[in-house]
Amino acid sequence: MRHGSIAGAHGRVRPLTLLGDGGLREQCREVTDFGPELAALVEDLFATMYAARGVGLAANQAGVPLRVFVYDCPDDEDVRHLGHVVNPRLVAVDGIVLRGPEGCLSLPGLEAGTERYDHAVVEGFTAAGEPVTVHGTGFFARCLQHEYDHLEGRVYADRVTGWRRRLLERRIRRASWSR
Ligand SMILES: [Zn+2]
Repeated sequence: MRHGSIAGAHGRVRPLTLLGDGGLREQCREVTDFGPELAALVEDLFATMYAARGVGLAANQAGVPLRVFVYDCPDDEDVRHLGHVVNPRLVAVDGIVLRGPEGCLSLPGLEAGTERYDHAVVEGFTAAGEPVTVHGTGFFARCLQHEYDHLEGRVYADRVTGWRRRLLERRIRRASWSR
């Protein structure tokens, strides 16, 4: 993201990887090249996220198995959080565990009550290689945990339990995008 520009304005909308496509179940690779291609990827992720009306997007959801995610997400106080993290580490998740409705651009049309901590801290780098620390509470903490999970090859459905899990799995099997 360049100073003074609108995130994603120069990006290209990439096809979204859906759960049935494969590729969402592998751990993403660390970024080692902080060159212009990485900045372009971040722009593309914003463009793709906005086109799909999402609040967060991990690179493997756009077909690139690298450890990068972007977000433009409100917290529970309606404060907007906009940014990206390269090679994120989830350095803290704590506070109370809340079950709240969660969905994913890779599982379109579905949502399920999912348990998440209400506080999360992520450390990583910007596309320019500058260190960055992101603190999230409430819905934004949920978003950070969700996007971090993607980079580890997990989706929110993995964290849904009990009857919610069985219902969600049935809906996934019936979904047109599921193979
Ligand atoms: Zn997702």
